[in-house]
Amino acid sequence: MADCLFCKIVKGEIPSTKIYEDDSVYVFADINPTAPIHYLLIPKEHISKLDEVTKENSAVIAHIYEVIAQLAEKLDLKDGFRVVSNCGELAGQSVFHIHFHLLAGRPLEWPAG
Ligand code: 5GP
Ligand code: ZN
Repeated sequence: MADCLFCKIVKGEIPSTKIYEDDSVYVFADINPTAPIHYLLIPKEHISKLDEVTKENSAVIAHIYEVIAQLAEKLDLKDGFRVVSNCGELAGQSVFHIHFHLLAGRPLEWPAG
């Protein structure tokens, strides 16, 4: 997607602080962190949002959750962390390339607003 901010980040056209990368997934620090650890996990392929996940493209979403588990181990997040994917404007999605926020390092209120 030529006009997609996160596709540009994957291609290196917009700089980001890379945390992890493999063939299908890219992880980078959120530019406006709301917790001491606030990373964004994205598929390299463009999927707009959670309700566009299908049988054909869901393997990368499963892989993202494997990467989350690996990062949680590496970052020693055994006290707890949260994963959030906002879907659609009412939920607060502002970038329409699916992403999973990984939040940790402070108490996280629940229910979320
Ligand atoms: P959403 O609101 O769609 O759930 O989350 C989008 C996230 O992307 C926000 O937390 C926002 O801070 C982050 N973000 C927006 N633009 C950029 C950018 O150019 N670079 C990085 N690293 N994060 C961004
Ligand atoms: Zn994109």
